[in-house]
Amino acid sequence: MTGSLQILQKYWKYGSFRELQEEIIDSVLEKKDTFVLLPTSGGKSICYQVPGMQMEGICLVISPLIALIKDQVQNLQKRDIKAIALLGGISQNETIDLLDNCQFGNYKFLYLSPERLQQDWIIERLKQLPINLIAIDEAHCVSQWGHDFRPSYLKIKNLKIHFPKIPFLALTASATKRVQEDVIQNLALDNPAIFQKSFSRKNLAYHVIETEDKLYKVRQILTKNPQSSIIYVRNRKSCLELSHQLEAFGFTATYFHGGLPSKEKEHNMQLWLEDKAQVIVATNAFGMGIDKPDVKTVIHVQLPENLENYYQEAGRAGRNNEKAFAILLVSVGDVEIAKKQFLTSLPDKDFLKEIYIKLNNYFQIAYGEGFNEQFNFNLNQFCTQYNFPVLKTFNALQYLDRQGIITLQNEYSEKISLQFIIPSKEVIRYMSLNPKSEEIITTILRTYPGVFELDTLINISLIAKKAKTIEKEVLKVITDLEKNNNIHLIIQNNDSRITFNEIREDALTINRISKPLEKQNELKVNQLKSVIHYISKEKCKNKLLLEYFDEKIIENCGICSYCVSQKSTLDFETINKVVHFLEEKKATSREIQNSLDLTTEQTIFAIQTLLEKNKIDINTYNQYFLL
Ligand SMILES: [Zn+2]
Repeated sequence: MTGSLQILQKYWKYGSFRELQEEIIDSVLEKKDTFVLLPTSGGKSICYQVPGMQMEGICLVISPLIALIKDQVQNLQKRDIKAIALLGGISQNETIDLLDNCQFGNYKFLYLSPERLQQDWIIERLKQLPINLIAIDEAHCVSQWGHDFRPSYLKIKNLKIHFPKIPFLALTASATKRVQEDVIQNLALDNPAIFQKSFSRKNLAYHVIETEDKLYKVRQILTKNPQSSIIYVRNRKSCLELSHQLEAFGFTATYFHGGLPSKEKEHNMQLWLEDKAQVIVATNAFGMGIDKPDVKTVIHVQLPENLENYYQEAGRAGRNNEKAFAILLVSVGDVEIAKKQFLTSLPDKDFLKEIYIKLNNYFQIAYGEGFNEQFNFNLNQFCTQYNFPVLKTFNALQYLDRQGIITLQNEYSEKISLQFIIPSKEVIRYMSLNPKSEEIITTILRTYPGVFELDTLINISLIAKKAKTIEKEVLKVITDLEKNNNIHLIIQNNDSRITFNEIREDALTINRISKPLEKQNELKVNQLKSVIHYISKEKCKNKLLLEYFDEKIIENCGICSYCVSQKSTLDFETINKVVHFLEEKKATSREIQNSLDLTTEQTIFAIQTLLEKNKIDINTYNQYFLL
């Protein structure tokens, strides 16, 4: 067996482990159940990927985030490591094939979403695999006190019965004491080794800045800190707007949100990673797997939903350990707006039911059907059709996702359907006038014979392949046809995909899952309260954040907006004292220091400030006097 370090060097090309990684790996290799809390997301996956490689057999990884699973599988494959993902939306036969591959193809990693564990036959198949380790990523999802509770995570515990000798490794980037205890209990971890890194980030200065002109403030911050930055905004629209505004001010800016086509996401991210754009304006969809060390500033333009997310997002600044800033901009009405938006957007049981039924109707799923069916989905269109409020609807869908009823995935796709509205004779004439389009049009007509009678869904890549051209050319021919009123064209953009994980059972389904809804809503209200507490002027921001994660510290950080403001109040008082003293008599710096009981630092600071402002001067006896 090769050592952990050799494996790290061979496949990951890193010279050494980061803090705690090696100890965690050793614990896993000793087959101990292990609980890991690494607050900044970087470096968690190494903790199971390295021992997974080191041991015979296959490592099972359970993760709720499909995007993260895809990202990790790709990453492993890039390193020539055999990894496979079992996600929703594929048929039972395909699933069986995949699992056969795992069993006979020497795969090292099998990723699956927790919903998959609800199917008994999958468990039966898993039992036939030589599993060496079960890693549970985002383990806080198993706790009702966590910010991201998913009941399907409770099923993981059953694996303990089937794999009593296999070590469990639970990983999370955020957990309070209560959540930690819950995780250990709900996963039935057996006397686990616990590894925990502090939430403290000494080089990160947390600032809450009140301003009535956020755009102006952003501009000021970016000018003062012309290094790499991330600006988080609430929605996709502000993403685009702010990025354009910043460009108009002369900054290099790009943007990122979940609804962008993947090529554009990749492109924009690359611009920022290569420092061709100083700023990336993003929604909270941005950040997964990003490890850019030299981010100087992370700015939040609106209040975050909870401090867990805020800590993660803000924590993307200063990974290189140089001084960095996490800035939250607040305007007077923000708290009221957040409360209002937030509280009105929490779905109740009736609303949840209505959304679920309408969602099924929307996709024409009959009662008792729909299992494993997958659809492209555009939230705005859905809301417009039924006159639903967008945010509340999104929250309801997210709840259905967390409960495992559906899987909601951000994935951009474009659906093109068309119908010819001129007779075929005229199409032939059009082709003779536009010979370049002939091959493509002929291919469309041959592939879709019904295209004169009906709106027909067109597969652009298929047409491009058949006509031996590229997709862009096909699109050009189609849009030209429309411009000339030859076809009726519908281009529909979808920004997500929905998979139905269960058959439609309307009230039965909703009654079963609605119990935790109230608790979740209550939790969300409390989370907002914590955010409001964080922006209060009460104490050191670093202290407030760490206390939220149940970490007690005594010292103020000295660099957050609270500490800095305290310091300047103190400085102001010192200066005043010195002025009053000099009103009485001339004095040397030593006399000032001794009489007023100041530190050398304070004395020098006060004298320098007063000299700079021309309030005092010095005579030949080295005495200061007021001007
Ligand atoms: Zn502080």
